[in-house]
Amino acid sequence: MTEGYQKPLPHIDEMNRPYWDAAKRHELMLQRCQECGHYRYPPGETCPRCLSDRLQWEKVSGRGTVHTWTVFHQVYHPSFASEAPYAVVAVELEEGPRMVTNLVDCKVEDIEIGLPVEVVFDDVTEEITLPKFRPTATEDSPSH
Ligand SMILES: [Zn+2]
Repeated sequence: MTEGYQKPLPHIDEMNRPYWDAAKRHELMLQRCQECGHYRYPPGETCPRCLSDRLQWEKVSGRGTVHTWTVFHQVYHPSFASEAPYAVVAVELEEGPRMVTNLVDCKVEDIEIGLPVEVVFDDVTEEITLPKFRPTATEDSPSH
């Protein structure tokens, strides 16, 4: 836990609560359509593919690849000042959906499209755990 976390926090509502509850347990869960198997993110009422409303929360692998990325050199929020430049990436999960997220444990110059990544969980407050991604460990890498 980080005392006095200063960054903007996600807004939790009834629709996305299962996602954040899972993150708190250090699990990545997405809605999956029980009709056609499509995973959707962000959460919604219906499947964008077949329009079924039979969506259920299922745990996913947490693995994916960098689909695209950008580096912020400018500080848009004062709480990020100590971290600039920092990368914001779109990760394409193995299950299909893309998530905009932070890449950690990776130098900006080492980021590339297609880089294999895996989810890690950052407990930023008592209530909120943020899923982030880091390069997939290929050999024995130091744990955190
Ligand atoms: Zn569907």
